Amino acid sequence: MPTLQVEIPSTGYHAGLIACQRACPVHTDARGYVRAIAEGRFEEAYLIARGPNPFASICGRICGAPCEAACRRGHVPRVDEDGRFVGQDRPIAIRALKRFACEIAGPEARPPAAVIDAVLHYVPSVAADAEEMAAMLRAALDGAVPPGNGERVAIIGGGPAGLSAAHDLALLGFHPIVFETEPVPAGMLAVGVPSYRLPRAIIEREVAVIRALGVEIRCGVTVGRDVSFADLRRDHAAVIVAVGAKSSRGLGLPGERGPGVYGGVDLLRAVAVGERLDVGRDVVVIGGGNVAFDVARTVLRQIAYDTARTAARLPGTSRVRLVSLESLEEMPADTLEIVEGDEEGIERQNGWGPVAIERNEQGEVTGVTFRRCVRVWDDERRFAPLYDDATRQTIPCDTVLLAVGQSPVTSFLADGGADVEMARPGWPKVDGSTLRTTADGVFVAGDLAHGTRLLIDAVASGKAAARSVYAYLTGRPLHVGAVTAHLTLPGYRRERGYEAIRRVPVPVTAPDDRLVHPDVQVEVGYDRSQAMREASRCLDCGVTPVFDGSRCVLCGGCVDVCPTKCLKLVPLSAMSMTAALGRAIEQTLGPGVDLDGHSAILKDEERCIRCALCAMRCPSDAITMERVTFSAHWKAP
Ligand SMILES: Cc1cc2nc3c(=O)[nH]c(=O)nc-3n(C[C@H](O)[C@H](O)[C@H](O)COP(=O)(O)OP(=O)(O)OC[C@H]3O[C@@H](n4cnc5c(N)ncnc54)[C@H](O)[C@@H]3O)c2cc1C
Repeated sequence: MPTLQVEIPSTGYHAGLIACQRACPVHTDARGYVRAIAEGRFEEAYLIARGPNPFASICGRICGAPCEAACRRGHVPRVDEDGRFVGQDRPIAIRALKRFACEIAGPEARPPAAVIDAVLHYVPSVAADAEEMAAMLRAALDGAVPPGNGERVAIIGGGPAGLSAAHDLALLGFHPIVFETEPVPAGMLAVGVPSYRLPRAIIEREVAVIRALGVEIRCGVTVGRDVSFADLRRDHAAVIVAVGAKSSRGLGLPGERGPGVYGGVDLLRAVAVGERLDVGRDVVVIGGGNVAFDVARTVLRQIAYDTARTAARLPGTSRVRLVSLESLEEMPADTLEIVEGDEEGIERQNGWGPVAIERNEQGEVTGVTFRRCVRVWDDERRFAPLYDDATRQTIPCDTVLLAVGQSPVTSFLADGGADVEMARPGWPKVDGSTLRTTADGVFVAGDLAHGTRLLIDAVASGKAAARSVYAYLTGRPLHVGAVTAHLTLPGYRRERGYEAIRRVPVPVTAPDDRLVHPDVQVEVGYDRSQAMREASRCLDCGVTPVFDGSRCVLCGGCVDVCPTKCLKLVPLSAMSMTAALGRAIEQTLGPGVDLDGHSAILKDEERCIRCALCAMRCPSDAITMERVTFSAHWKAP
């Protein structure tokens, strides 16, 4: 018989159960805004989502959503209307719900000043805030954080990391100036993420809110060409380097250098800023991640659009093939990207490693030769591809796009940054908690600090850099003080049948209509009733049944009524004793108690769906439903 691992709840235990919030790098109270949507409190939902995240609207469209991966609903068994188990359930569509709330109350729907006013003066109706929630914003207003003295802070790079740092520095009383080489701000969001996933108008509106806080953004200024790093250090009290990893990595293949071979992110940038790249009509994209799909799907749209406009001049067929080293199961791209790419006509070939790019006598690309890849990862999950050299194929094409990773360009550090030590070429050595480099007053944020990750990681990193700069310039480190409260919820009830509702599919444009124009949005988003229905599936992990042993009459009614069988009534004598369990028993029953005749209620947190049936059934009111809330306050001594 398998032994049960029993954990005695300690301080912070219940906070740890809110998996969505814990998984988010800025600790957004996703549960809070999802429940607000379920109850029709849409404005509040937006404010909860926006508090810790200046890029809430953009995240609503494209966030990699670590919250969804962690969502407990995705781990509980699914039950049908008759209470029968019918397989594993699916997580709440948290990202799509965030988009819904932002469209109603975010910068999509009102001017920047109104957004700022609402965000800064938001007082939660349910104390749903958590570590790092809007605490920074409120603290700056109520004086818990004495403002900086308006010193100028230079930020190199106007991507999500740089702009998040600027946003928080403006709130903290500084004068952030962002230097951005591109003609538009927002980094990879504007020059990487394709417009069919993220409309440019949303970027402009979200950035307008940041500007309205007093952030100065100077576009078209390249540090290292138009202004030197040395000048920035001389003229500013601190410098944050947030230049991302913009350069496409190459593979060093024979034939790689020359016309017809481009970096994937270079192609995306060219399309985004309206520059022309000489891309043919028979394209091979090498790579298996999300960026490879962005590249393949973008080029497919460009070909379709050009063909529609110049049909008479461009007869014949076109093809976009995506070739990855990994098998379909191992591909790092999101399943949704793979499915939508397949629907749109991307021809996918899995399990092939490139050997050479073939060219004719005129130097034009004629194809790519691949060999079979029989294994990508070794037993320790290290990247160690093995090939079957005898099995090869040459895929004919006229253009090759490489989407196999990016690296940073930090050569501008040569002028004035000799004291910035490098961890490896291009990547500065950085203290993971303070984001300081080895040079005085120089900080790093975003992809350059932690390697290529998600947009929300860059936001978290930018905010952390802002706090570090505050501490550096004022000599006052910022602390977060957390308060935990338990609130009993008499008469707590859930929406009828919420446990059986299946995930509401996020509406999308039909594949045939997507290629009509490169800007056609693939994801359409929820309407009000779809959003409320999907939000009502949330298990509300912040609510939990709490058992009062002194009132329990051991009738077992709670165990019988539990639909997911998450409760167990177990004789203490049958439990394997750990030190923590022994201490808990001693605290409750006194020292040296005879275990025979005493029982414990065990709860499997993974299965509990917070339905409250146990509390309703209990004849002695020994079970109450409680909401656990955490509020955080930024303080500077
Ligand atoms: C194609 C693509 C698609 C992606 N899709 C998603 C997604 O769907 N969801 C998600 O969560 N994440 C996604 N990501 C990841 C996300 O975009 C990045 O993690 C994030 O943008 C990193 O932010 P950052 O500010 O560190 O860098 P960046 O966004 O790269 O911004 C850095 C900025 O610095 C500027 N810069 C560089 N050098 C200089 C200089 N010398 N002088 C002045 N300015 C300079 C650059 O022009 C750029 O604007 C995607 C990334 C790519 C490449």
